Amino acid sequence: MYVPWRKVYSWHCVACGKCCIDFKPKLTYYEYLKLRKTGFVEEKAGRYYIKKINGKCPFQIDNLCSLQGSLKPISCKVFPFLVRKKPAKNEDLAYYEYDGEEYYVYVSTYCKNTILSKNPTENLKKLVKEAIELVIGRKREVEWITWVQSSKPKV
Ligand code: SF4
Ligand code: SF4
Repeated sequence: MYVPWRKVYSWHCVACGKCCIDFKPKLTYYEYLKLRKTGFVEEKAGRYYIKKINGKCPFQIDNLCSLQGSLKPISCKVFPFLVRKKPAKNEDLAYYEYDGEEYYVYVSTYCKNTILSKNPTENLKKLVKEAIELVIGRKREVEWITWVQSSKPKV
């Protein structure tokens, strides 16, 4: 389930790797073309995805993602955030103005580290802004939406 970002107090990633097992990331056509030679991507009804191999994303090694930089899909870079130009629901609570443009940002509650409550922390607002910047190409690389460096991934 996705909720508007103003209903989220905080989020952080501990690199548990679960979302890469349960989710099937959508790709843009350009991302699909870049990854096609791996054999791990597929087209279904005009939409593009990473295939599940043995029940998980084939790019996941141990609990971490082996795709970095421009190869990592935007939907993965911004997870658990979802940025839309049109509101899906709860327009006011999802609204974010960036550079004079309207965006609507939602956060997945799948991750157990998505903590719901009013009054998002300043850090959560920073993550929302970064998600927008990544989606619109203002920023190429993730700086803040990343796993907590002090947490050791389980291997
Ligand atoms: S986003 Fe959440 S579910 Fe995904 S790896 Fe990080 S902590 Fe785990
Ligand atoms: S591409 Fe990387 S971040 Fe995306 S689902 Fe696969 S392992 Fe996870």
